[in-house]
Amino acid sequence: MKKTEGCPTLEQTSEAVPPGGSRYIVDEASGMRSEELRCAKHGCWYLRTYIKTLAVWTGRCEQCGAEEEQELQARALLEKRKGELRAKVEDLLPNYEAQVREQTEKDVAAYTASIRPDFEAEVRRRLWEQLHGQIETEELAKLVAELKSAKGAN
Ligand SMILES: [Zn+2]
Repeated sequence: MKKTEGCPTLEQTSEAVPPGGSRYIVDEASGMRSEELRCAKHGCWYLRTYIKTLAVWTGRCEQCGAEEEQELQARALLEKRKGELRAKVEDLLPNYEAQVREQTEKDVAAYTASIRPDFEAEVRRRLWEQLHGQIETEELAKLVAELKSAKGAN
């Protein structure tokens, strides 16, 4: 097992901790709960305590904490370089025109395919109305002709 700096090593705690698990310690008098957890990222063990009066857990892997702090510092530094980053993107963008065209073709084709059934249904509905109107006109004319001939026969 890899030794990790800043965290109790697995070797130091493994005897008291079930493999892959955690150990719970409850102080009956204060109701304070603690547990020993293994950091999934660094493999080290750390103590986490529940502070009942504040309803919060405290304690974490020191390496995770250090990495999070570094990430925050890096983000703060990066925030000051927004213009530089935008310029880099603007410089790179023209290199991706073929990709933009290809993806646009795919997106348009997918969109067209997705809306096609609705358009077909609307075209079919209009055709139905048109055909119905034609047939109605023809049948009406036949009936009028029949009525005329029937009247003429009288
Ligand atoms: Zn960690």
